[in-house]
Amino acid sequence: MSNYNIETKCVQSGWTPKKGEPRVLPIYQSTTFKYETSDQMGRLFDLEDSGYFYTRLQNPTNDSVAAKICDLEGGYAAMLLSSGQAANFYAVFNICEAGDHIVSASTIYGGTFNLFAVTMKKLGIECTFVDPDASEEEILKAFRPNTKLVFAESIANPALVVLDIEKFARIAHSQGVPLIIDNTFATPINLRPFEWGADIVVHSTTKYMDGHATSVGGCIVDSGNFDWEKYGNKYHGLTTPDDSYHGVVYTKKFGKGAYITKATVQLMRDLGSIPSPMNCFLLNLGLETLHLRVKKHCENARRVAEYLSTCDKVAWVNYAGLPGNKYYEVAKKYYPDGDICGVITFGLKGGRDVSIKFMDSLKLAAIVTHVADARTSVLHPASHTHRQMTEEQLIEAGVQPDLIRFSCGIENADDIIEDIKQALEQV
Ligand SMILES: *Cc1c(COP(=O)(O)O)cnc(C)c1O
Repeated sequence: MSNYNIETKCVQSGWTPKKGEPRVLPIYQSTTFKYETSDQMGRLFDLEDSGYFYTRLQNPTNDSVAAKICDLEGGYAAMLLSSGQAANFYAVFNICEAGDHIVSASTIYGGTFNLFAVTMKKLGIECTFVDPDASEEEILKAFRPNTKLVFAESIANPALVVLDIEKFARIAHSQGVPLIIDNTFATPINLRPFEWGADIVVHSTTKYMDGHATSVGGCIVDSGNFDWEKYGNKYHGLTTPDDSYHGVVYTKKFGKGAYITKATVQLMRDLGSIPSPMNCFLLNLGLETLHLRVKKHCENARRVAEYLSTCDKVAWVNYAGLPGNKYYEVAKKYYPDGDICGVITFGLKGGRDVSIKFMDSLKLAAIVTHVADARTSVLHPASHTHRQMTEEQLIEAGVQPDLIRFSCGIENADDIIEDIKQALEQV
């Protein structure tokens, strides 16, 4: 499918039926798959043959959807997981173990921050957080001999920092480690991180990809570009024999597919965060219209951001598409047609309490712990998703205490603006 334009890939990639097969991706709602001889099955367990045998490892519905996302990102191989959190965990744990260290942008999703700062630490993996806007020299100071990767979000949730991906790729590669980009907010419609030097992409498919708030899910896509063998023993999980598969060496046997194969046959086998085939089917339905929806989300976000910037009661608006925004120039480079994402943030004069009163007065925009679906929604991160963080951590994560995260849906922008207008009149 790789020669088609991205819109065609959204609709057509992944499931390509042959003669007499269902036109629509079937839901293989089966935990297991039948074989004719014991030997046939044995070869699958030895990774000598590829084929389906148990849905914890692989399922045809899930694989078709992974193949679609892989094609959208321009990657080499991909896998689906039961959540974005699982995707982030596997992406890191696949090449890190106790005693290792990672470098991450500080402006990341609250759940990922906790994963790196608290849970990974309990597993013996330490994280140093860096300001994504710091100079290369400053960021390089975070590296240690045992650093294994760099992690950042292309558009930070909810800080909306627009990442200079080329800068991060340069830094990571100068230290001989891969760059992992969480591309959830931008989606491959607006940005494909591999084109800017990223090595691995992760997604919370729960957001724009599903798009209708029906299914939690995650995805990891590997570009196949990082040379694991170049750095001696550093990525020994990939480059030396795996005892749990009779000594298979992933890089030797699977080449560019080594990283995703290991994450599937080892981590997924042992940890088991699989999505259900039904959820993958729903995700695929979402992906079929991703290109249409993302355009509309972005158009509405532009309209709402422009409106908010004219309102007296609004203290500040953060949307990189607005001239004068801190990230306006970098956004122009990475998002040349002006489509960044459908999420904007802003604060109201009077601070936190006024922001909360405003949110409670909205009628169309619903208060939900969600973002990036068809319905306009709103959240106060300091009271909700980022509640566990200290004031200091909030500032480091780019979340001002008065910050309102406003996720523009695909309704008519006039109606969204009218709702904001009436709620502003209440404060
Ligand atoms: C939501 C989100 C996650 C976590 O994904 P879940 O599907 O909720 O587990 C990770 N990264 C980003 C940028 C997110 O927005």
